[in-house]
Amino acid sequence: MMEIVRPRPELRETIMGLGETDINLCYTCSSCVCECPVNIATNRLSPRSIVWMANLGLLDELVSLPEIWYCLGCNRCSQICPMTVKPANLISSLQWEARCRQIVSEETFRKYKTLCFELHRIRWRLASNCLQDRNFVLNGVRWQELFEAPVNTAEEAVSFEALAADSKEFKEAADNYLGDPTNASVCFTCGGCSSVCPVFYDRKIFDPLRILRMANLSMKGDILDSPSIWLCLACEKCTNACTQRVRGHLIIRRLQEMALEQGFVDNEFPRRWKEVQIALYARFVEKIDSLFNFNQSEIEEQPAAT
Ligand code: SF4
Ligand code: SF4
Ligand code: SF4
Ligand code: SF4
Repeated sequence: MMEIVRPRPELRETIMGLGETDINLCYTCSSCVCECPVNIATNRLSPRSIVWMANLGLLDELVSLPEIWYCLGCNRCSQICPMTVKPANLISSLQWEARCRQIVSEETFRKYKTLCFELHRIRWRLASNCLQDRNFVLNGVRWQELFEAPVNTAEEAVSFEALAADSKEFKEAADNYLGDPTNASVCFTCGGCSSVCPVFYDRKIFDPLRILRMANLSMKGDILDSPSIWLCLACEKCTNACTQRVRGHLIIRRLQEMALEQGFVDNEFPRRWKEVQIALYARFVEKIDSLFNFNQSEIEEQPAAT
């Protein structure tokens, strides 16, 4: 017989305190559900449902939910929410609570972080393939192959004298977004942005500080040609963490736009990149289920059109 779940409204304040979120403002509009990239890929991560359960005080149930580990930390649910509820903060605090209660052991959490590292390394490889318009099928075997494939980034030392003549123009373009200053030039390379970035696991693959430094050095060709700029989740954490008010997420968005405008990337790339990430996130959720011993979802082998 199914167990009856009883609301525990007395726990609502506790949950709000954990995540510093205003869950009681949610009016279940579903904007967060439509915006979540993992939900778009799998239909299995509903920030709205998590917020609703939090409003019912179902803390014990929430910390045992598989969904809280599917989250990429991209912050889109919080950005789109008309009531500033911040579901992403709530989910992150539930992950922390699950660790504190040892529902998830440190060993499993370490494996989870390794899986996240694999995810972003594979995203780099897939972005690279999409840039070259290569076809592939993303299945379990391919995941491992893509993870193990070498990441070929330029290793040679940069000659400042050899930087292109149009570097000043490029630097000026990165220094503003739609007329608003991005403050790129006042970065003093403290690394604060990298420490909060949910994609930063390996400097060669993605590091906001490295990208900002390359922009400031006007390394136009290297940066606009790189798969790395497409890995940014636009979560804005780098911008919020920067004491110099450098707006990292806008700089990377501007670099992406420049790559398209200047032909470093073909016009079909954004469509290919979106499709391939949908396939990848479905695999990621499957791997999380397997790691945490949740019920395995049967996900069809999905050809990713590129
Ligand atoms: S977008 Fe905000 S108000 Fe709408 S369902 Fe999500 S959390 Fe609730
Ligand atoms: S932060 Fe998590 S729940 Fe929110 S949109 Fe991103 S992946 Fe979905
Ligand atoms: S946090 Fe700001 S100042 Fe520090 S490296 Fe990042 S962009 Fe530069
Ligand atoms: S917006 Fe900033 S913190 Fe977020 S993924 Fe992009 S570089 Fe990282």
